[in-house]
Amino acid sequence: MSFIQMKDVYKRYKMGETTIVANDGIDFQVNKGEFVVIVGPSGAGKSTVLNILGGMDTADEGQVLVDHVDIAQFTKKELTGYRRNDVGFVFQFYNLVPNLTAKENVELASQISPRALDAVEVLKDVGLGERLGNFPAQLSGGEQQRVAIARALAKQPKLLLCDEPTGALDYNTGKQVLKLLQDTCRETGTTVIVITHNSAIAPMADRVIEINNAKVRKMSENPNPVSVE
Ligand code: ADP
Ligand code: ADP
Repeated sequence: MSFIQMKDVYKRYKMGETTIVANDGIDFQVNKGEFVVIVGPSGAGKSTVLNILGGMDTADEGQVLVDHVDIAQFTKKELTGYRRNDVGFVFQFYNLVPNLTAKENVELASQISPRALDAVEVLKDVGLGERLGNFPAQLSGGEQQRVAIARALAKQPKLLLCDEPTGALDYNTGKQVLKLLQDTCRETGTTVIVITHNSAIAPMADRVIEINNAKVRKMSENPNPVSVE
């Protein structure tokens, strides 16, 4: 039984006279604990899929089953609870609060979710035990992304959604961040979904979903994903 299932999801944006179809009948499913890459060119509709899965946007039509519940039927209030308690988000540009330290940024999770883990422990887990008191500006891009991942993981989300998490990083730093995401998936059983326009990431995934021009063009399972080193 799938952990996530998008069934015939449509999303359109009205821009004056024209309508942009961002998702044109999206269908796919994901099993629990998988490391999933959604790949496709810019403008393909990937962020729209991620925003709908994360409860940040709503589908016009279709079903969005997460852990057997159709979040497309959620009220605004239910969707807020879902975003806070069930989903972790990681963004391209980290979205850290600049005037809070690494530790304080991760502690924000405990203001959002009652079951948040201890910030220091999670920062140690992502290799930043020595950086607790540093502000974002005092950290490298890769370290800032680790703080952002720690903040997302502190909530113990069912689902970790990552929007171009390596998009602002150089090749080696990006690889380290991907390794952290892959290891997290393996060690905690968290379902991790990464969207990217970089198809080089695809071989690391358990499942690859290719989106182009608002539709899923291909979905493949990878029995032997490459372990990031
Ligand atoms: P991707 O993440 O693959 O780059 P997006 O899902 O961001 O693609 O966008 C798909 C299409 O929908 C694009 O044409 C984009 O410009 C449009 N789009 C996305 N979000 C909005 C929005 N909030 N308002 C209007 N158009 C949007
Ligand atoms: P990505 O780099 O992940 O493809 P985008 O640059 O497409 O992301 O989108 C970044 C944010 O801007 C998203 O939240 C998306 O919904 C929004 N967005 C994208 N295209 C448009 C648009 N044409 N009009 C308004 N908002 C948009």
